[in-house]
Amino acid sequence: MTLRIGCIADDFTGGTDVAAAFRRAGLRTALVFGVPHATTPLPDDCDAAVIALKSRSTPAAEAVEESLAAQRWLWSKGTAQIYFKYCSTFDSTPKGNIGPVSDALLDAAGAPLTLACPASPPNGRTVYQGHLFVHDQLLSDSPLRHHPLTPMTDSSLPRLLAAQTPHRVGLIALPTVRQGVDAVREALLAHQRDGVRHVIADALTDDDLAVLGAAALELPVVTGAAGLAEGLGHAYPTAGAAPAEPLPTGGRAAVLAGSCSARTLEQIAQFYAAGLPSLHLDVLAAAAGRDIAAEALTWFDAQNPDLPVLVYASASPEELAAVQQQLGVAEAAAQVEGLLGALAVQFVERGVRRLLVAGGETSGAVTTALDIRAVLVGEEADPGVPWTHAATAHGDLALMLKSGNFGAPDLFLRALKDRT
Ligand code: ADP
Repeated sequence: MTLRIGCIADDFTGGTDVAAAFRRAGLRTALVFGVPHATTPLPDDCDAAVIALKSRSTPAAEAVEESLAAQRWLWSKGTAQIYFKYCSTFDSTPKGNIGPVSDALLDAAGAPLTLACPASPPNGRTVYQGHLFVHDQLLSDSPLRHHPLTPMTDSSLPRLLAAQTPHRVGLIALPTVRQGVDAVREALLAHQRDGVRHVIADALTDDDLAVLGAAALELPVVTGAAGLAEGLGHAYPTAGAAPAEPLPTGGRAAVLAGSCSARTLEQIAQFYAAGLPSLHLDVLAAAAGRDIAAEALTWFDAQNPDLPVLVYASASPEELAAVQQQLGVAEAAAQVEGLLGALAVQFVERGVRRLLVAGGETSGAVTTALDIRAVLVGEEADPGVPWTHAATAHGDLALMLKSGNFGAPDLFLRALKDRT
């Protein structure tokens, strides 16, 4: 029961991102997929556990229910502090879910107030005078104003949050943060006396987030993106050098890609250009009843087992649009996710021990198919893209789950070559 911090992330790849941040801070970190049950395993001796939910754009009541179930599970594992992780661009609708989930976690913990800061300086997300910037633009002037699910047309965090909660929202501005930990603690107490429940804090740098993390160490509930999580992680007394998690070695290496993001398409192109075995899955043929999975396995068995292989459904925007028009978006996704999930199981049965999965939804499909409920977070191949250690029915696996747009263009080559 050493668990110090329990984190609830509102989406899948956000969970990976924040888990990598805790590990950078030197915490032994587990990542759990979906609302855990009594039987969900937690690797031994973890300092941090991150539960990755998909609660960002679900109805608020559902997001609250799942988050509370996750909080109860984390408490049952002995965690003292809950960190609610949302996107560094504060992705939410006018009514939630950041406000309702924060309030529910605070109510359940009997906590008077929380500190909230979505800043993530390495990614250009900073908070000044309560306004969220994306590089040199206000959030509301950035491309996020056109986000398909959660368009962000206001940059004022106090205003955004006030619309999502019946409670008071306050601000700790940069000059106080720059005065240091004691000044921030005093400001938190002053807000508490004034009945403020959500305290937004300014932060421009990782040093600012380290101050905020140290000041928030005793709060039962803290909220923000990966930046404040890392600041908090560094404040824990045990945090030091990141522990080297031993990853499974040997076995075959494979990439399964279902992301159609520009960066994943570049990564596929580099892998292919290096002359490594690559196979594109014909989604329309699969929908028409051809046994594409069996064909892919025959192809896999014929490859040199010493080389990593890539199997991908990923398509260019034009190709994707054509498939989606013919099958419908949901059916196309179901075909792809069904194929890649089934192939993941077959690959592991055939001795793949290093598996890289590209795509947030695709990662969900693969972990579900492999019945992987929790992994231990290891070293990062690229920022926010860690290797993880996963136990499966067929043996232990080095597993990398990456969001479509994450990682450098040579990630597939580098990540799998390093481990050959
Ligand atoms: P990202 O992280 O880039 O958003 P995801 O895996 O979350 O990647 O989403 C990609 C979506 O595109 C998945 O639902 C996947 O099933 C779908 N998809 C991938 N390839 C194709 C294709 N060839 N035709 C239609 N849909 C596809």
